[in-house]
Amino acid sequence: MFLGSFTEIKLALVHAEAALEKSEAERRSEAAYFQQISENINEALWLAEVNQDRVFYVNPTYERMWGRSAASLYTDPRAFVDSIHPEDRERVVAGLPTQRLGNYDVEYRIVRPDGTIRWVRDRAFPIRNAQGEVYRIAGITDDITERQQIEQQRLELAVEHERVKILRDFVSEVSHDLRNPLTTLNLKIRLIRDTGDPDKRRQYLEDLSLQAARMNKMINDMLTLVRLERTGEATLAPTNINQLIRGICAEMRPMIESKAIELLLDLDEAIPEVQADVDDLSRALANLIENAAHYTPSNGRIRIETQVLHPSVVIRVSDTGIGIRQEDLPHIFERFFRTTDARATDQGGTGLGLAIAKQIIERHGGRIEVTSTIGRGTTFSVYLPGEVREE
Ligand code: ADP
Repeated sequence: MFLGSFTEIKLALVHAEAALEKSEAERRSEAAYFQQISENINEALWLAEVNQDRVFYVNPTYERMWGRSAASLYTDPRAFVDSIHPEDRERVVAGLPTQRLGNYDVEYRIVRPDGTIRWVRDRAFPIRNAQGEVYRIAGITDDITERQQIEQQRLELAVEHERVKILRDFVSEVSHDLRNPLTTLNLKIRLIRDTGDPDKRRQYLEDLSLQAARMNKMINDMLTLVRLERTGEATLAPTNINQLIRGICAEMRPMIESKAIELLLDLDEAIPEVQADVDDLSRALANLIENAAHYTPSNGRIRIETQVLHPSVVIRVSDTGIGIRQEDLPHIFERFFRTTDARATDQGGTGLGLAIAKQIIERHGGRIEVTSTIGRGTTFSVYLPGEVREE
């Protein structure tokens, strides 16, 4: 069977059209040649008048591909446009004028009368008369549905591979970070067994309960991260951020003041409401305030500020604590990352608090930034989209 390549078909079409200028016998022979090609190839062929989105000739493959008869395509001026998948229609129609240029090559979906969807690749080129004017457009269409399906499967497989890789990395990070407190637990248990000194025993037991609490916090934080990654869009409701901050501070103030740290609130009452998931956003802000308390020595100060920076609402948590080195700043939102200074200052951290905060803030359409000077203090700024107020 004749299998036409794009170039061969194009040549045959141009020949057949050029036959118009030739003798009757030549014309008949060219037309017969064109018909032979057109009726035996796997590609769909079509011809249209310039400036009309209606075809006046399609070959049998075209009829099979579209699931429509040639007659219906010739008579219904909307048949072609209507057969394009609604999501691709605007793009295809917008590209139609470029068919005259000769490099028209688009891929789109068609919906057949029985509802089945096929992917096609449509290429077109202009046909000129003896004066060199474009008066017809010829097109060749391939059914690329299978190729698209294979491509789709390849994409899905790549996403799946990426998911497995993330999971594998996560499990290996988790096992590493759970092993440390577990080793300490085992060591303390052995020490308790071996010592008869009641004071030492009491101390070891206290260490044990600290490590157990840390493991508990780590598991809870990991579950939160997994939940945030798994659940789709956040469920948001208009929220008064100042009220939310006052609530968090009421709970945390005793812990903060027990460390002789001053807690200052500077809240702008003019800020608009923010679309928020109250539980999640509270958790993100609490993580920032908790960090400020953990990494600020006694007699320091924590300041929480809200402000409108159109179109955002900004929440700033500043402290006068140990600060973060410039080289560590790009890493602090990574899971399990803790600076050496932080490890020396606070044994109870998990390195997950900021990863959780960042994820939550981004789920709210916001962003988080940090500035810090080692030994002087740190400021975290959270930008959230503010609600537009009806005047
Ligand atoms: P952690 O449980 O260790 O506090 P986070 O994810 O909350 O974990 O923070 C990651 C790291 O970022 C901390 O270990 C610490 O090194 C640094 N960090 C976060 N907040 C502050 C802060 N306010 N001051 C100094 N360092 C901070």
